[in-house]
Amino acid sequence: MYSVKEIYKTIQGEGAQSGRTAVFVRFTGCNLWSGKEKHRANAICNFCDTDFVGTDGENGGKYSAEELLEVIKTIWDSKVDGYIVFTGGEPMLQLDKDLIEICRASNFETAIETNGTIEIDFAIDWICVSPKSGSVLKVFKGNELKVVFPQEELKLDQLQNLIFDHYFLQPMDSEKSEQNTLDTINYCKSNPKWKLSLQQHKLLGIP
Ligand code: SF4
Repeated sequence: MYSVKEIYKTIQGEGAQSGRTAVFVRFTGCNLWSGKEKHRANAICNFCDTDFVGTDGENGGKYSAEELLEVIKTIWDSKVDGYIVFTGGEPMLQLDKDLIEICRASNFETAIETNGTIEIDFAIDWICVSPKSGSVLKVFKGNELKVVFPQEELKLDQLQNLIFDHYFLQPMDSEKSEQNTLDTINYCKSNPKWKLSLQQHKLLGIP
């Protein structure tokens, strides 16, 4: 059974697939933070803006692969081939070949947003890796590398040598957002391999 925090249809707001309608499946749990505020200060990843604890979100629950696909189909609600983004939390704690295969067999394109600490040994149509300072990266190639900026220990000049189609820098959403945005813009201007990614869903209030 897969533990899922929430499943919803929205517009992808970040990175190279921005603007695309997708069903987001947010798995419960992450290997870099418990999701509890009392553990944030000592977590490997401590700037998370996502609630991935429990199964109590919209359409959340515990599902078999077949049950999850049925929920996704109902939410997609279109004759046009679908697009699913598996996210979290850390989706690779739960996502597996079986789930991807039954989704693809129902003409869904599949994508993952992962912190890249767990190897991916099956095919996913779109792999977006967002490395986190202090963690050990194990996914070295994919479609999109999306780095939340700044993160002290991440060496961008090394990351840009990995094998990705797109390299995005995204300003960290914090009390220093304005400064982070300026710093991100300046870094991209000086290092044009990196492109600016904004969280358009937040800016526009897309539910
Ligand atoms: S790795 Fe991602 S989901 Fe996990 S705590 Fe960090 S930002 Fe949140």
